Amino acid sequence: MEPIKVLTKNVDKPNSAAIDTYIAGGGYESLKKALKSTPDEIVQLVKDSEMRGRGGAGFPTGMKWGFLPKDSPMPRYLLCNADESEPGTFKDRVIIEKDPHLLIEGMIISAYAIKSCPMSYIYIRGEFYKGAMILVKALEEARAKGFLGKNILGSGFDLDITVHRGAGAYICGEEMGLIESIEGHRGQPRVKPPFPAVVGVFGSPTIVNNVETLSCVPLIVEHGAEWFKSFGQPKNTGPKLYCVSGHVKKPGVYEFPMGVNLKELIYEHCGGITDDLPLKAVIPGGGSAPMLTPDEIDLPMNFDALMKAGTMFGSAGIIVMNSSTCIVDATWRMSKFFAHESCGQCTPCREGTNWMETILDRIERGGGRPQDADLLFDMTDNIGGKSLCALGDAACGPVASAVKKFRDEFMYHIEHKSCLPGTKRYRRLDMPVGAH
Ligand code: SF4
Repeated sequence: MEPIKVLTKNVDKPNSAAIDTYIAGGGYESLKKALKSTPDEIVQLVKDSEMRGRGGAGFPTGMKWGFLPKDSPMPRYLLCNADESEPGTFKDRVIIEKDPHLLIEGMIISAYAIKSCPMSYIYIRGEFYKGAMILVKALEEARAKGFLGKNILGSGFDLDITVHRGAGAYICGEEMGLIESIEGHRGQPRVKPPFPAVVGVFGSPTIVNNVETLSCVPLIVEHGAEWFKSFGQPKNTGPKLYCVSGHVKKPGVYEFPMGVNLKELIYEHCGGITDDLPLKAVIPGGGSAPMLTPDEIDLPMNFDALMKAGTMFGSAGIIVMNSSTCIVDATWRMSKFFAHESCGQCTPCREGTNWMETILDRIERGGGRPQDADLLFDMTDNIGGKSLCALGDAACGPVASAVKKFRDEFMYHIEHKSCLPGTKRYRRLDMPVGAH
């Protein structure tokens, strides 16, 4: 499969973030076209495109918009999730920094489609300072050209967009944590239901969509649903950004139709494995996705194929590990991340993620006990599905899959009190527990 330049068609242009560059390439024509349609027609178009959200869950975007209550007197809000905190994921950042007007145009069209939405927010993670400043400037440009504000392009539609910077918490990428954070509260997810489409930010019906999802909307309006569906497979449609990192010779953000073969992506487009070592494991969908072994990667990168393979497509953040990787150390690192990012609101996640990290740490330090592999596996069973939000499940994915698929390596560590010969850890063990 050949790479494409659809979502990324502008990113290599000089001064790509400027509104004049965007307009010269046909930008904001989709907005003009959309404003001549009814909001319901735009919703139907997005439904017909069969686009699934690009943030991780893969929920159909048009269907999500259709959940807004028809009889609520409250204003509606569109929130753009630009928190992009999933380990191994850096695709939204490319759009934000290189083509912000694609996102802004997508947001204006989407806000028009969901109706009664005079205000919209881009929730961007705190570390993306550069991206936030680019967005602020791009929004000023859009206002000056009449694409934002009162009576946009004479249509009678009013909208403004504000950039809201987070403080760098992973959990604020979860839609309910994001909503709490925008409201000025601690970013702790709320219990669902009610879902945001019914009671979201400020008690109003709210749609939360990812950067890449919203950036697809102008393309769908410009070219139509059938064109969008011509990329990928049924129910897994459209152009898609894939982030590849770790032990590949050419890491980066790649654009392909949905469903590019994972093995082909790693070995052909990313140049294969660093140092020409054998492949050991692949995390296909961001840090929370269960690992795949080399014999499991000959499959299309889409939501359904990866779910069938026992993992998940998630954010399409692909992390590649070669045979030099100590899998216990890699699993510990991921586990430490989730333990650190647990918001602490519910017991299985708050306590369980820390226990998992502690056990992984003691195995790596040579203090593992014979029952530790089973204990870790048992813990994932008691956290996953028993926590309030998806972080509990996310923390279990890498641990459960690593223990299941690399059990011999865990047992070697426990028995020999050292890493498997030929592997190396990426941290110092002479520091106290928790100091890394
Ligand atoms: Fe917080 Fe974890 Fe519970 Fe989610 S699962 S609400 S992150 S403690």
